[in-house]
Amino acid sequence: MSDCIFCKIANHEVKARIAFENDRVIAFHDLFPAAPVHLLIIPKAHFSTLNEVPAEQAGLLGELMTTAVQLAKELNLAEDGYRLVMNCNANGGQSVYHIHLHLLGGRKLTWPPG
Ligand code: 5GP
Ligand code: ZN
Repeated sequence: MSDCIFCKIANHEVKARIAFENDRVIAFHDLFPAAPVHLLIIPKAHFSTLNEVPAEQAGLLGELMTTAVQLAKELNLAEDGYRLVMNCNANGGQSVYHIHLHLLGGRKLTWPPG
């Protein structure tokens, strides 16, 4: 997707503070952090929303989560805790239409979200 900001980050066309990368996924710091630690973990392949991800890509979704857990451990969030969130479409609060898993931590997070 040529006009997708997260595709551009995945392609290194747009700068981001990258925390992890392999052939399939890339993790980078959110530009407007909502917590002391706020990373976004995305697939390099473009899927606009979770609704577009076919069941055969379950492994890729799993890799987003295991990557987030690994980063949470490396950033010493694991013991105190953290939150993983993926928003979908307008009611879910999605604003960037390339799926991304939020990793939030470093403070006590409230529940339920607004
Ligand atoms: P959503 O609301 O779609 O779940 O989350 C999108 C997230 O992307 C927001 O937390 C927002 O701050 C972040 N974001 C939007 N544009 C950029 C950008 O250009 N670079 C980075 N690093 N984060 C961005
Ligand atoms: Zn994209």
